[in-house]
Amino acid sequence: MTELPSRRLLLVHAHPDDESINNGATMARYAAEGAHVTLVTCTLGERGEVIPRELRHLSGAALGGHRLGELKDAMRALGVTDFRLLGGAGRYCDSGMMGLPDNDDAGCFWQADVDQAAGLLAEVILEIRPQVLVTYDDDGGYGHPDHIQAHRVAMRAVELAAAAGWDIPKVYWNRVPRSVAEEAFARLDTDLAGLPFDKAGALDDVPGVVDDAQVTTAVDGTAHAAAKAAAMRAHATQITVAEPYFALSNELAQPLFTTEYYELVRGERPAGRESDLFAGTGEAS
Ligand SMILES: [Zn+2]
Repeated sequence: MTELPSRRLLLVHAHPDDESINNGATMARYAAEGAHVTLVTCTLGERGEVIPRELRHLSGAALGGHRLGELKDAMRALGVTDFRLLGGAGRYCDSGMMGLPDNDDAGCFWQADVDQAAGLLAEVILEIRPQVLVTYDDDGGYGHPDHIQAHRVAMRAVELAAAAGWDIPKVYWNRVPRSVAEEAFARLDTDLAGLPFDKAGALDDVPGVVDDAQVTTAVDGTAHAAAKAAAMRAHATQITVAEPYFALSNELAQPLFTTEYYELVRGERPAGRESDLFAGTGEAS
């Protein structure tokens, strides 16, 4: 195997599109700076609602295959070449929203054995040896079963990999500071009339909103705003983009953040707010 760059970042997400919405600017920035960026996506999002009318016939495996194509286009936009499906494409399928009978499907990610899935992810960790891992908080950011499961699997994989020889120095959860979200929604109220969306979403629609003090890290990806928007646009079955806003299939407008925020949950908590995920690892930019 050729030697990887000295800085290595691993992101763990539930569905194709989550990476671009949550971390698109971060991924584009670190890829542009020459860091090795690895994305592991746990399912192909086979149960996602499809926005474009002409694609609404797609469902199940056909939708999964289509979304894999969208993911490839998104990764091209972000400059990320290393992206994988946990256990290979189709190993785990989308669980659908909480409370639906879809969650009982034996092949869905919600039903996955956490240790087994974490073992698959630990193999990736031991191969890449990242200094930084990014995933969701224990509520998955907003309670979707696959997001909660991605959190559990990622955190368990960190333990398994540590026991097997690679202790990831820094683990982060995706966050949005409440003040940043409030300001952005106030702006959205003013801008809504000029947007192709009828209604604004609410702050509760944004995953991972917490009090400002809980946020340890802000990654300024403003220079990569266009790449993030392009990556989100690539997920056309799931997202409509009208910068600096976007909407999911519920058609509720929400802000598209190009500074992305994190909470450090493994590693020494910084005194002030960091601006680099690799700060303190000896590999800071
Ligand atoms: Zn998702």
